[in-house]
Amino acid sequence: MSASIGISLYPEDAATPEVLLQHADSAMYHAKGQGKRGMALFAGELSERLARRHSLEQSLRKALDKGELSVCYQPQVRLSDRQTVGFEALLRWNSPEHGRVSPAEFIPIAENNGMIVPIGQWVLEQACGRIAAWRRGDRPYYVAVNISLRQFLGGRLEEIVWKVVNSAGIPPQALELEITESTAACDPQQAEQVIRRLTEAGVRLALDDFGTGYSSMRRLRELPIRTLKVDKSFVDGLPEDGDDVQIVTSTIQLAHGLGKLSLAEGIETEEQHLFLLEQGCMLGQGYLYSPPMPEELIPSWIAQSCEAVKASADSTPIRRENMQ
Ligand code: C2E
Ligand code: MG
Ligand code: MG
Repeated sequence: MSASIGISLYPEDAATPEVLLQHADSAMYHAKGQGKRGMALFAGELSERLARRHSLEQSLRKALDKGELSVCYQPQVRLSDRQTVGFEALLRWNSPEHGRVSPAEFIPIAENNGMIVPIGQWVLEQACGRIAAWRRGDRPYYVAVNISLRQFLGGRLEEIVWKVVNSAGIPPQALELEITESTAACDPQQAEQVIRRLTEAGVRLALDDFGTGYSSMRRLRELPIRTLKVDKSFVDGLPEDGDDVQIVTSTIQLAHGLGKLSLAEGIETEEQHLFLLEQGCMLGQGYLYSPPMPEELIPSWIAQSCEAVKASADSTPIRRENMQ
């Protein structure tokens, strides 16, 4: 057996036994997070971090009602001709007290306190409403929305997705749900059935940040995943880092071998683009093509992309089937 110990000191850390114990408890979780059999003192950086977290949590509770949240859209492109095929919806929070807070910081807080359920529904509504306005027959864009584990657990995700898709008037194929490996690994019964029913009706499913969690090949085989997203941390080292090269090429092969699409995240350089193209990676997303943009900028992005397609169609005939 092993023990993790959290320590808080009276009177420096708290004036009452309850708060003192809460702080010792927080320090104990911190110690556990650092690896087992450790100890941590509730002091300095840890107390500052917890205070910020607490303050962010309080502000986040009101952020949705106060209109502080917005959604940005990052184009996903086909690597062979860089044409936009869809957009990933990415949540943004501009808080009057805290400034711009990164989703990497506030999403875990929202997941922890359950706020991600109403916030996630709001993102879905926004994203589906926008994509309804942007897509047409000749540009069948989809929108990819990140879904947290917690949204599956409430049991209402399916109902919410259908309500939102129907009221936006889009076909299910215009919506892609991005889940991570931890979501894919959660309660097999509940989440899997919801995923299956949604995908059977046409909603697309992508596995985000592939390779960064506990990847289960069985899940990969059994879940109706359409797109495997190669995580940015592996794309970063391309094309020089031998380990990243191995991981990325094997992941692309794995995706294709299982009949799935491959998408590389966080492409920032021409070299990465060319390397991924040579390896047969189909789709990509990253600052090289475009950063996430506020919704107002997307119509002009679409107009520009359509111009580019027209220009290349005038010079070289492009095949219709490649445009889908
Ligand atoms: P993600 O879903 O893997 O999203 C990709 C992240 O990579 C985004 O960060 C995007 O802005 C960033 N990115 C894209 N291309 C590049 C690039 O070329 N270079 C660099 N350095 N970064 C790039 P962001 O927007 O900060 O989001 C972070 C994470 O927060 C997302 O990772 C996702 O897990 C989560 N998230 C964002 N919006 C939502 C949401 O509406 N719901 C949920 N549940 N999670 C969300
Ligand atoms: Mg994502
Ligand atoms: Mg990702």
